[in-house]
Amino acid sequence: MEYYSNQISQLVEQLASLPGIGVKTAQRLAFYIIDMPKDRVEKLADTIVKTRNVIRYCSQCLTLTDQELCPICSNPRRNQKVIMVVENPRDMSAYEKTGKYEGVYHVLHGAISPMLGIGPGEIRLKELMIRLEKDVDEVIIATNSSLEGETTAMYISKLIKPTGIKVTRIASGVPVGGDLENIDEVTLLRALEGRVEL
Ligand code: ZN
Repeated sequence: MEYYSNQISQLVEQLASLPGIGVKTAQRLAFYIIDMPKDRVEKLADTIVKTRNVIRYCSQCLTLTDQELCPICSNPRRNQKVIMVVENPRDMSAYEKTGKYEGVYHVLHGAISPMLGIGPGEIRLKELMIRLEKDVDEVIIATNSSLEGETTAMYISKLIKPTGIKVTRIASGVPVGGDLENIDEVTLLRALEGRVEL
């Protein structure tokens, strides 16, 4: 990248540091941005900074939002007594796309992974247990079917069992090791409907 001016190289480097963007794509984007009208570039940069500044965790389900409560938690039509536990906000939006789930969510922001040294204390489990002190009918564990996801599901179910709250696990129609966000809506729905009590 030596042949570019320092400023362009910096832009390419920044873009290339984003996930899924290789150097070639980064170069294409950089030149596209340079060719864009200035006001559009400013709007893009401004939106990135503003989004980063206002986004925070929903005080109830911990998904990313720009409000105290996310639109799902604050929706009076959602059933607050059914909580689906997911690993991240992307999994949550995958289930939302099915349009059939009427409960609320709890976002763990990760999964237990002894291999990576991620213990139960490093995901948002404490917050889930606090939520369960309220009137809850069912906790649906929808962590991924990866080793980490299964480990997390087992751990959570053991944790909740003594409370007497019904704990279910989404059916294994979801391919092993598959990321929930890459699975089509029909499969997700089938996994949800075929959930089994743990
Ligand atoms: Zn929420």
